[in-house]
Parts: sequence; structure tokens; C-alpha cells
Amino acid sequence: MKAGKICFKCKQRAPNYCNKQDKVCKPCFMDSVVHRFKSSLRTNLKIWKDDLNLICVSGGSASMALLDLMHNALFGDEESAAEGVVKVSQRKLFFRVHVLHVDEGRAVYGWSEEFHRQQLEMIKRLCEEKYKFTYTIVPIEAAFDIVPASLDVRMPSPEEKERLLQERKMDEANHATQDDQLFETVKNKHMEIEDLEAKRERFKALISSLPIESSFQEDLIFYLKKLMISDFCLRYNFKKALFGTTSHKVATQLLGQICKGRGASVAHEISYVDDKNFGGRISYMSPMRDFLLKEIALYNRNRKVEAILQEPLAKINQQKLARPTNAPSFASTDLLIQAFFSKLQDKYNVNTVPTVVRLTGKLKKEDFEGGDARPYPFCPLCLGVRDRINNLLEVGSIIKSIQVSKEERDPDQFITKTKDVPAAVQSADEWFPDQLEQVLCFGCKRLAISAQNRS
Ligand SMILES: [Zn+2]
Ligand SMILES: [Zn+2]
Repeated sequence: MKAGKICFKCKQRAPNYCNKQDKVCKPCFMDSVVHRFKSSLRTNLKIWKDDLNLICVSGGSASMALLDLMHNALFGDEESAAEGVVKVSQRKLFFRVHVLHVDEGRAVYGWSEEFHRQQLEMIKRLCEEKYKFTYTIVPIEAAFDIVPASLDVRMPSPEEKERLLQERKMDEANHATQDDQLFETVKNKHMEIEDLEAKRERFKALISSLPIESSFQEDLIFYLKKLMISDFCLRYNFKKALFGTTSHKVATQLLGQICKGRGASVAHEISYVDDKNFGGRISYMSPMRDFLLKEIALYNRNRKVEAILQEPLAKINQQKLARPTNAPSFASTDLLIQAFFSKLQDKYNVNTVPTVVRLTGKLKKEDFEGGDARPYPFCPLCLGVRDRINNLLEVGSIIKSIQVSKEERDPDQFITKTKDVPAAVQSADEWFPDQLEQVLCFGCKRLAISAQNRS
């Protein structure tokens, strides 16, 4: 056989796909996906034996692939005997897994009762029967039930820091433990919350107060979900929360965050491990940040992975309008950037997205020492880095007023004398009389400013 007509890995079978420039056969492709995933868990995420991990599943194709890959990493592939499913069997890993699904179907996407029931049934069935993972389903309406005190965003004091460090060491030696009784209250449960209907209406009102252009609505929903996940982690002692973030998402986030004035957080939030918040008590992890959408789609098809096919919110919003926008990508910032990368990747150079993702590894992460100097470095809404008060983009100038020297005052001229004294702003209180303005980061402030009928 001529070179190019044969799989570059096994050099035996005829190739099925062209992955980047390499021609590869189906079994070799599947093996390499699983292998890359496992080595990502081991080397980038440092997931140990017996570790307890929370997998956050939205139901979309990337997070469902994450679920299948996790199952594969744990149990190998003895059970996937179904017809037409490509087998991948390799050495197993040993750690524990719990699945968390934040249910946004009705409040965000307006699913019918029947469709909603079917999707949740699918997630339950996959967890219980196919993967044998424990799970919890929490409706997004429960965002209103988060007690602010349970999500303390203050940096730990030196003593607390020491205690957290000890706890980390304990975890490494003995692995994170759980209060079994407490865990039973959420294990394999679809959580019920009080006044669900009223909270749903409140949630819809909250989201619809934001403009549908740009990505404000999507951002707020994402931040609320992240707060709920963090709350869940702190409450039930999960230290590692895994997300199905793909490399396209990483590339999109990089540009998107900068556009939205959230550049300060980007180095943390798109890395493999983001443990800047809560004194490192939770690590948000993205084991799939090297995977291309195409690879995930092929993997899912070969493994017959089920997923919820959900149209983007921006599209749904536009379709509801009498006169939808003619702006590209339904006037959504995120979708526009995503389309930009997809086009470059598909039509121009297959290494575009991988190059951008590699580049993000060079971004410097800020060190958060905390302490008294900066007790609250993070924004309580997005958990991102809060800008310092002298951010000139925000305030324009730090000169508050200029005291004109009385003795040299010249009625024809305005502040030109050397004895005039400019007064600089000293504290955040002086800039932002409103408490909300003081605590939110630059990006979240733009979000709040864009809201209508604020209440
Ligand atoms: Zn091969
Ligand atoms: Zn923020």
C-alpha cells in the first residue's frame, strides 16, 4: 500500500478520517482520544486514585462525551457490547465520580413539559444504567436559594490558609471524604425546591431584563450556574469540578473575555485547572480543553453517545422577535467569535484552534496571596478577578478635583497656577457610592448597566 493510503498509526488498516493532516483509521482514532483524555487527567488535572470528582453535565455533546470518557477511564470498555459501538479498551483508572446537572430546560429554553421530562429521564437513565454514576439534578431556579453566607468570597486569613493547606495534604493522603448522611440527601435525586413556579418566573424576568444582543443573558446564566456548582461543591465537599470545555470554547473565551472587559480572569478560567477562588477549596477543571469539536463529534458518533440538542439562546431569542436582527450569528458575541474560529479552522488552517489553545498556555496567571491587602480580589457574581479601583478604563482619571490656589487666582485663566492642588481619589467609596458598584468587576458592571427595569 502507498503511504497516505494507510493509517499513520498502526500502518495496517485503511484510514477512515483525516485528523488534522494525519490519515487515521477508526480504532486508532478512538484509542488516541481515550489515551489523550486519560493522560490529561493524570498529568494536567492530577486526579489521583480514589479521588472524588464532580462532573458537571449540561447535556450538550461535549459534556456527554466527558461522561462517556470518564466511564471509559474508570471501567474500560467491557460493557459497551451494543451493536455498532466502537470499543476502546485500555488500562483503567480508579477514582470516584458524581454527576451534577443544572436543569435549565424550562426556565432558560422554554422546553415543553414533555420534552423536559424526556431529557431529564435520559440523563438519569444514562447515569443509573449505562454509567452507574451517582447523580444530582438541580433546577436552575434554585439559584435564588443560595445563601450568600455559604459562598464566602473573602480570601482566607493566614491561619485559615494554613488549615486549608493541611486539609489539602490530608486529601492527598486519604482522599476527600464525604459526610455520607449528608450526601444521601442529594444522591440520585432530582432536587425539589419551594415555589418553583414563582422562582421560574422571577428567573425569566431577571434574564429578560438583559439585552438579547451581545452575550449578556448567556453570561449571567453561566455565572449563576457556576455559583450553584460552587455552592454544591462547598456543601458536599467536592474539591474538583470537571467541565466539558473544548478547545473551540477556550479559543472563543480568550477573545470573548477580552472583548467584554474580563481579560484579567482569562488566564485562569481557560486553563486546565482554575483554583483561584475560595482559597483553593474548589478546582474547576477542563480535561478536554485540547479536544476539537470535530474529534468530539466523531467520538460521540462512534460510541453512540446521546446528547441534548439545544439551539443557542441567542437564536431562540431572535426567532421570537417580529423583526429578527440581520447581524451575523444572531447578534451574539460568543457565537460570532466561535464562527470566526470555526471558519478559520475548517477553511483555512486545521491548526488554527490548536495554536490558539497552545498560546493560552503562555498567559501569566496572577498570584492571589490574599491577606489584608486585598481581602476580596474576586467578583461575587462571576467569581472572576475584580479590577483595582484605579482601573483607568473604568474611571477615566483618578483626579477627583483641583483646588485652585486662592492667592494666585487669575480671573482670566482657569487652573494654570503651580500652586493649584489636584486631589486624587483615595478609596473605592469615593468612586462608587453604590455598594453594588463597588463589589462587581468591570465586566459584570457592564452587564448590570445594560439591564432594563433594574430591581
Ligand atoms: Zn490505525
Ligand atoms: Zn464579575
